[in-house]
Amino acid sequence: MIPEKLFQQLLVLGDAWRVKAVDYVEPQRKVVIRVEETPQLWASQTCPHCEAASVAGYDRAPERSWRHLNVCQLESEIACALPRGQCRKCRQVFTVRAPWEGRSRGLSQEFEAFALILMREMPVKKAGEILGETDHKLWRMLFAHVDAAWAELSWEDVVWVGADEMNRRKGHNYLTVFVDLEAKRVLLAVEGKDATVWERFAAELGRHNGHPKAITQVAIDMSPAYIKGVKENLGNATIVFDKFHVVSQVVEAVEAVRRNEARQDAQAREQLAKTCWLWRKNPEGWTDREARRWEQLEGKPLVTGLAYAMRLELQRAYTAPTAAQARRRFQEWCQWVQTEARDLASGLLEPMRKAAQMVERHLEGILAHWKQGLTTAFLEGLNSLFSATKRKARGYRSSEYQIAMLYFVAGKLEIPHY
Ligand SMILES: [Zn+2]
Repeated sequence: MIPEKLFQQLLVLGDAWRVKAVDYVEPQRKVVIRVEETPQLWASQTCPHCEAASVAGYDRAPERSWRHLNVCQLESEIACALPRGQCRKCRQVFTVRAPWEGRSRGLSQEFEAFALILMREMPVKKAGEILGETDHKLWRMLFAHVDAAWAELSWEDVVWVGADEMNRRKGHNYLTVFVDLEAKRVLLAVEGKDATVWERFAAELGRHNGHPKAITQVAIDMSPAYIKGVKENLGNATIVFDKFHVVSQVVEAVEAVRRNEARQDAQAREQLAKTCWLWRKNPEGWTDREARRWEQLEGKPLVTGLAYAMRLELQRAYTAPTAAQARRRFQEWCQWVQTEARDLASGLLEPMRKAAQMVERHLEGILAHWKQGLTTAFLEGLNSLFSATKRKARGYRSSEYQIAMLYFVAGKLEIPHY
């Protein structure tokens, strides 16, 4: 078989195009696959202006090239002077679209598909180094695919939504990320964490074939802004405060107790040195060193130890088999924490008292965990997913890069999207 014919088959050009030559260009060490149209092309073309099927060849546009997959470790490109056709009906002249063209100018579909595979596995910068393309160009391609695929997503089956705030940089710059808890996919990410992000979400629902009234459950943390946003924009939704967020708030309260105790008392400070992570984990997650550290503490009357026991007890309340039993256990927990806090003159349990108040105030939403049978595991994993996204978008800090990468990695988009 002659090499040109082989390349023709590899490119899946069909009978409207043919490979007329394959050249090796010495200075750049690259392979140039030269393609031209065959007379059959005109039979399959319709006018892009009036859609008439009667089109004839007119002339050729200047030659262009498209980066293609490497051939035996040599960079390759497709080169073609695209034919221009003229409509017999409306007389307009137009350039024929190259069937191998990707979403980015100057890249072939096969090259884009391969680049996207690399970008799924590694930071964009690294993919650029491997491919010998600027990461700027790869990003542009990613945006083109993500935007097109995301715009066509249907959200018509979305009924269970979760939302969480993601920290873009330490301390500030928040994104609110909305997820479909049933299909386990990211739906939308927007800047900010106030009530107005819910307006944005409701509007996007409409654009994606969904409806704000169709949302029956929403899992969120206990932030007043989110609660307000849900009530104002998703009228039929039951609010569920998910376990992960409830427990995290109590974990933060334990941490506050630890800091205050170390500050107030020199002896406690010594005992509490290097225990920050111990209190953040469950005992079954401790390293050997942390377990030994715990043994050294046992028997010492630390308020932090009591606060930690309170947190574990709250987690145990989640093992209650029914909502009624859970209600009783949460109520008992709140009473216990508040009594202990009142009896402790030092005031060190104040953060725990506040946490108990918060649980009391939001009890119905917390108990919805039992009523709705809603699994929020995807929401819990969102933080680590977002960290991975940030790593992949390394060097590109503006939110549009991070949002595009989040959709690419977790949006279940149809990509490559041609
Ligand atoms: Zn026409």
